[in-house]
Amino acid sequence: MNSEKIKLSVVWLKRDLRLADHEALYHALSSKKPCLILYVFEEILLNDFHYSSRHFNFIKQSLIDINNQLAILNTQVLCVKGSVIEVLEVLLKKYSIVLYSHQETGIGLTFDRDKELKLWADSGGIQWYEFLQQGVFRRLPNRKKWIHLWTSHMNRPIFNFSPINDQLLSKASIASLEKDLVVMDLQTSKSKWFQPGGEQNAKRYLNSFFEGRYLNYQKYISKPDLARKSCSRLSPYIAWGNISMRQVLQRTEEEKENGKISSALSPFGSRLRWQAHFIQKFEMECRMEYESINKGYHALVKEKDQDYLNAWEKGQTGIPMVDAAMRCLVTTGYLNFRMRALVVSFVIHQLWQPWQAISGFLARQFLDFEPGIHFPQIQMQAGETGINTLRIYNPVKNGIEHDPEGKFVLQWIPELSKLPQRFLHTPWEITSMESILYDFKQGEDYPNPIVDIEKTRLKASQTLWNLKNNSLVKKESKRILNRHTLPNRS
Ligand SMILES: Cc1cc2nc3c(=O)[nH]c(=O)nc-3n(C[C@H](O)[C@H](O)[C@H](O)COP(=O)(O)OP(=O)(O)OC[C@H]3O[C@@H](n4cnc5c(N)ncnc54)[C@H](O)[C@@H]3O)c2cc1C
Repeated sequence: MNSEKIKLSVVWLKRDLRLADHEALYHALSSKKPCLILYVFEEILLNDFHYSSRHFNFIKQSLIDINNQLAILNTQVLCVKGSVIEVLEVLLKKYSIVLYSHQETGIGLTFDRDKELKLWADSGGIQWYEFLQQGVFRRLPNRKKWIHLWTSHMNRPIFNFSPINDQLLSKASIASLEKDLVVMDLQTSKSKWFQPGGEQNAKRYLNSFFEGRYLNYQKYISKPDLARKSCSRLSPYIAWGNISMRQVLQRTEEEKENGKISSALSPFGSRLRWQAHFIQKFEMECRMEYESINKGYHALVKEKDQDYLNAWEKGQTGIPMVDAAMRCLVTTGYLNFRMRALVVSFVIHQLWQPWQAISGFLARQFLDFEPGIHFPQIQMQAGETGINTLRIYNPVKNGIEHDPEGKFVLQWIPELSKLPQRFLHTPWEITSMESILYDFKQGEDYPNPIVDIEKTRLKASQTLWNLKNNSLVKKESKRILNRHTLPNRS
């Protein structure tokens, strides 16, 4: 039966929504067989609590961008809804297929999906070629060889997109396949808040970073408002694969060679390396999605308080810096590193909530949600790894230091606009006389702090420091260091 069918190389896009430096696409095209690029809006992800419409809009914009590039070749991505196996079964009615994709280090749901797909492919004699995308390697026992593997992966030449004539299925052939599938509408409404998806936008951000924004990278990295411009803002483009890490790293090296100030670029380069370092950790300890990497902390039982969680999610905790950051995140999908760490530290330490109660909500908000960074970072900020310094951020001190004029706070909490600058990070300090003077009612115009941040900081810090001496925490810390630390690090 199969021999009568036309052979088709199917490139299954996931978090690799680009044409350039796409190893799976490159190899599919090198097969010289007819080729189809496929994206499946999977029901399991559309309904999963880590994902939200902001992610799917970004994906749709990325696919439109690819389609715009493909239009000249009279082709497009087949964009459908369903399960990958169901969609491939439809393709199999007409074609004999070989599958090409990148390896994914994702949540349990996509791992299970990949295992099911592998069984299905094997049982049907379908070949599935998987390629590395992030310099993250499967089945590594430890990090002894990782940095060498990662470096040679990142130093490989860029894979060009160069199909031969009419190799990609024509729009007409794709339209005929669509008749048996649920086609996804790619239109999204414009938003002034979210970074727009797509390979061209990724390039735009990369170029503007090297054209000048990079100069203030280190200076403003912790400033909630200024970092939005001086950081690269490449995270959603990297997370959804609009640009490969290899492209970003090689461009960074080129810029240094061409005379860009290397002291300004080296802290950026370090962070680029952290990306795969974190994802590799998650690849090797994927239960981190559900439980702390250090088993000693499983004994830490915290009760979920829905009122606290609601106040935190809505930016109504009464602590201006926390509330401004949360409102900003919900509206724009982005926070710089320090603000992410601060809001997580607040809810986990000061509100004493389990990290599992916030990871889904935060994943839905971050436009750049990358499971391999998300879960390890949350656990680091929660102080539940046993190997990182415990940091409980003081939101008032951070506000005064990083938003001294209160610009960020005022942008997101206009209720505070009647107050003079000195009260913007501590509105609860105004006296009743000042309250009349400024026509501002603390507790009514803006909530009173839901906790005493000093008392709760002390309690959290004592509990976590005591746990550090627990024998299982210590044993696990040793195991984690042996398994995840690079050889040249202490
Ligand atoms: C609780 C928490 C959750 C986070 N979740 C994510 C996430 O889901 N996705 C994500 O991309 N980043 C995450 N980060 C890391 C970091 O905050 C963002 O990568 C960064 O703020 C993105 O902005 P940028 O692209 O301008 O970064 P830049 O500073 O310009 O860095 C360039 C790139 O380097 C990588 N990078 C930077 N900082 C880190 C870091 N600390 N760890 C790992 N990689 C890094 C990212 O790919 C980033 O795009 C998280 C941090 C915390 C504290």
